[in-house]
Amino acid sequence: MSTALKLEGVRKSFGGLEVLHGIDLDVAEHEVVCLIGASGSGKSTLLRCVNLLEPIDAGRILLAGEEITARGVDVNRIRRQIGIVFQAFNLFPHMTVLRNVTLSPVKALGKPRRQAAAEADELLRRFGLADKRDEYPDRLSGGQQQRVAIVRALAMRPKLMLLDEVTSALDPELVGEVLNVIRELAEGGMTMLIATHEMSFAREIADRVGFLDAGVILEEGGPEEIFSAPREPRTQQFLQRIIEAGRL
Ligand code: ADP
Ligand code: MG
Repeated sequence: MSTALKLEGVRKSFGGLEVLHGIDLDVAEHEVVCLIGASGSGKSTLLRCVNLLEPIDAGRILLAGEEITARGVDVNRIRRQIGIVFQAFNLFPHMTVLRNVTLSPVKALGKPRRQAAAEADELLRRFGLADKRDEYPDRLSGGQQQRVAIVRALAMRPKLMLLDEVTSALDPELVGEVLNVIRELAEGGMTMLIATHEMSFAREIADRVGFLDAGVILEEGGPEEIFSAPREPRTQQFLQRIIEAGRL
């Protein structure tokens, strides 16, 4: 299978503080890789570097074989190929759901408005949001808003989706519907790199899991390996704390 995303020796500092200490990571096409690790371990920074929201200090990042961190690369062209969804839904409050979803395809890809709307309707239907197309975000539940945010990213037909703790801001009873959307995406073959605190979800959905510890991927492997038989003491400790908190 071909490599969708490759990180080689990626380093990132903020001021004098290095927070990613040389990350190597491959994500194959159609693969789902989950990043787990304590708060502050660098998961969000890693995703933001992949989306070129943060410049890296060393190493390189390749998307479908193209070095996207090379000098002179058109950042906007790359970002159009990568969908990113954050913890906060970030929908435009003054636009309807349909407008939120069609905005970038029209503005950035130059799609005719009617075609963009037809594609948006198709996606909204697929994710059970068809009846929300003309609503404004504040009329939707958090779960629905987050599903719209995912649909909005998908409307750009990305090669890769990055999801950063997309259920963390949700009331517990709304987490399931968002996880279902991600499950559906995985089944549809979407390539995804997912930072998550939802360990049982990661265990179920991930092809591979990486444990990030203080800016290094300390251990990676299949979900059964990582969750049932972690090799590294730090991974064992982290999972033990999760189990004690009743979250695995
Ligand atoms: P995680 O997502 O795993 O919780 P982060 O990537 O958010 O971790 O943070 C990793 C480290 O980088 C933390 O020590 C955090 O304080 C620091 N950090 C993240 N973003 C910034 C920033 N914009 N400026 C300074 N430090 C940052
Ligand atoms: Mg984070």
